[in-house]
Amino acid sequence: MANFTLELNDEQKQVRDWLHGFASDVMRPAAAEWDEREETPWPVIQEAARIGVYSLDFYARQYFDPTGLGIPLAMEELFWGDAGIALSIVGTGLAAVGVLTNGTEEQIGTWIPQMYGDADQVRVAAFCSSEPDAGSDVGALRTRAVYDEAKDEWVLDGTKTWATNGGIAHVHVVVAVVDPELGSRGHASFVVPPGTPGLSQGQKFRKHGIRASHTAEVVLDGVRVPGDCLLGGKEKLDERLARARERARGGPAGARGGNAAMATFEASRPAVGAMAVGTARAAYEIALDYARTRTQFGRPVIDNQGIAFQLADMRTRIDAARLLVWRASWMAAAGKPFDAAEGSMSKLYAGEVAKDVTARAVQILGGNGFTRDYPVERMHRDAAIYTIFEGTSEIQRLVIARALSGVPIR
Ligand SMILES: Cc1cc2nc3c(=O)[nH]c(=O)nc-3n(C[C@H](O)[C@H](O)[C@H](O)COP(=O)(O)OP(=O)(O)OC[C@H]3O[C@@H](n4cnc5c(N)ncnc54)[C@H](O)[C@@H]3O)c2cc1C
Repeated sequence: MANFTLELNDEQKQVRDWLHGFASDVMRPAAAEWDEREETPWPVIQEAARIGVYSLDFYARQYFDPTGLGIPLAMEELFWGDAGIALSIVGTGLAAVGVLTNGTEEQIGTWIPQMYGDADQVRVAAFCSSEPDAGSDVGALRTRAVYDEAKDEWVLDGTKTWATNGGIAHVHVVVAVVDPELGSRGHASFVVPPGTPGLSQGQKFRKHGIRASHTAEVVLDGVRVPGDCLLGGKEKLDERLARARERARGGPAGARGGNAAMATFEASRPAVGAMAVGTARAAYEIALDYARTRTQFGRPVIDNQGIAFQLADMRTRIDAARLLVWRASWMAAAGKPFDAAEGSMSKLYAGEVAKDVTARAVQILGGNGFTRDYPVERMHRDAAIYTIFEGTSEIQRLVIARALSGVPIR
């Protein structure tokens, strides 16, 4: 018998139910307040740290679930609770994955624990890749990292933008150009330790959705970091750059090209899909409940096919999105190659579904859906982010189309 199953194991069910309890009892009731305040919900993060939801240990266990479903299950439940608060809780993970993907064992052991702090002193971390002139076009980064050999230090200069937790983070992970001739192959990632002079927060953005999550510019002005803050180390960087230069000269294609930022984004795409599934499911559940109880023309509005069929479509699309997310997550855990960019597919589809489902939920709630008295209005605003960050929907389509065709489609 083949061992294919979509049945979760006991541990997964236990974690999912535990997170659901936290999302429903702690996050949901706090969601409207922090959305209005547009501030990082420190007390909620602290509570998450106290019970172990915000901890390195928890994320490591989820990350290394051999089925690959640990992270998507966690993301779906937390974002079901509230997307803005959830991003404040999981935003540190993007920086952690940046270190995990590119760092040495020693760097992983040194920096990732510091990103989280502990229940008494919670900390957050930021991953800073995007720049004002380099969003989708990661190859256009301008932030420079120059090596000062005499002092064994790197000097970082530039402006990062859209950084989740940027400026309020204890640890910043910064992607910078070490060799401008090599485009995105000439990038490297650096840890900027807490309190490093020259790093400051620029403008904090006032956003359409996920407003409980802090998003800001990060200015790097002559920031000096020790040599061992280069993720992966100098030797590995020099080897990688040598291979990239050889490739640029038309030499043997032994160089796979280490694009630090893209590697980090690729690893995190199905997780973003799972976030979108969580928001979509939340809005769908509220819409279903409302349609059953709201009476017009002497009958519940769900008695009309026009409403009932919407709910049927919403649920079908949510389930399809989750299956794409689970497939990509399983492939990543099983070491399967993403020949058709299945990770990008899952993020593309789930992001579009979240936008569609939350819009329909607003419609099903009628006037109430349009007010802040009901959470679907906030969920609809929150859902707009899923087709933008971690690569827009257009960029996902580009990645998928290139993977399918082998053609460098533009
Ligand atoms: C709330 C929020 C949090 C974020 N958090 C982080 C973070 O923590 N760290 C980080 O580094 N970044 C972060 N980002 C940045 C995010 O990843 C970028 O906003 C995103 O990659 C898009 O870049 P851009 O905004 O510059 O849009 P642009 O690249 O300017 O795109 C504008 C439009 O053109 C389209 N487009 C661009 N190129 C093409 C093309 N070749 N083909 C077709 N269409 C194209 C895009 O799809 C989009 O519709 C965050 C953004 C937001 C809004």
